[in-house]
Amino acid sequence: MIDDSIRYDRNTMLFGADGQKRIKAARVGVAGLGGLGCHLVQQLAYLGVRRYVLADGDRASSHSLNRLVTAYPDDVGQYKTDLAERLIRAINPDAEVVNIRHHLPHPDAIGALAGVELIIGGLDNDAPRLHLADLASQHRIVYIDAATDTNADNGPLAYGGRVVTAGTGPGCLFCLDLLDQQQIRRVAMTDEERAADAAIYGVPADALDDAGPSVVTINGVVASLAATEAMVHLTGLRKPQKQLTYRADHGGVRINLDPPARTACPYCIRWASPEPVLAPAYENKLGVGEDERLPQTGLSGESRPDHQRLRTPGQDVAQAATSGGTVPQRAVVDRSRCDFADL
Ligand SMILES: [Zn+2]
Repeated sequence: MIDDSIRYDRNTMLFGADGQKRIKAARVGVAGLGGLGCHLVQQLAYLGVRRYVLADGDRASSHSLNRLVTAYPDDVGQYKTDLAERLIRAINPDAEVVNIRHHLPHPDAIGALAGVELIIGGLDNDAPRLHLADLASQHRIVYIDAATDTNADNGPLAYGGRVVTAGTGPGCLFCLDLLDQQQIRRVAMTDEERAADAAIYGVPADALDDAGPSVVTINGVVASLAATEAMVHLTGLRKPQKQLTYRADHGGVRINLDPPARTACPYCIRWASPEPVLAPAYENKLGVGEDERLPQTGLSGESRPDHQRLRTPGQDVAQAATSGGTVPQRAVVDRSRCDFADL
């Protein structure tokens, strides 16, 4: 057994022995163990995190071997959570790992993640992101969400990603207008409803498995940004940034200091409340207006994450969230509103 004071000597030069103790004591949830989550668990393990909840129902495929740093060719077919647990235990043999081989919102995943102090999302679909926002805000758990994005809707291909930290101050995926409500709705559709939707609006790129680009270097940068925000939060080095945007096509990272697009965010109000607040009580007691109620996902059972399509703020979320079931027209991306645009 290697003494922690020796092993983490170079860590404590940055954030002190107390910071290292806080990392060791923290229980961290990682939802999504694919291209982003594999880097996240590797870095968390090297930071010294010992207590994990891992949730993902996916298995490694041949297509994921270009980026899944937890997997080798012989691992095709294995659950991604099993591969993540193997890596964690190789780095920290005494790690405590709760391994949930299910997607959100499976009850086992929801129940286990409710008991952590920090959740990091490495997901590729906005439906489970909404579940994490709901869960984390209800239990006032800090939620760091990482996403890689590509967009070629209007001009040259933009590629990179972003990290959003919610629960440490105003601003979350919902009120920053970063959730694609149409994507969330599609996950809840039956096959017939999805086919009818596609007949009207076409098949979106995110509905095709492994349809979009996913490259290990970009995943690694975005996951490292998220892991660093987790580190500064756990150690108290500084407050995490609300939103970081990485433009790999430009080679830079931007801090978003803009106020949330949506005011009176029901999720951020929950995070700020002294006690956990359930949605019905929230609606009844706080007099939330129709437009500010928690969006309903309509999801049940297993969700099947698809490839994440680049989201630009204001694309169609506000309309979809308040449309009462009316399918909104897919918006044309306005690059002047894109959070990448002014980097
Ligand atoms: Zn919010």
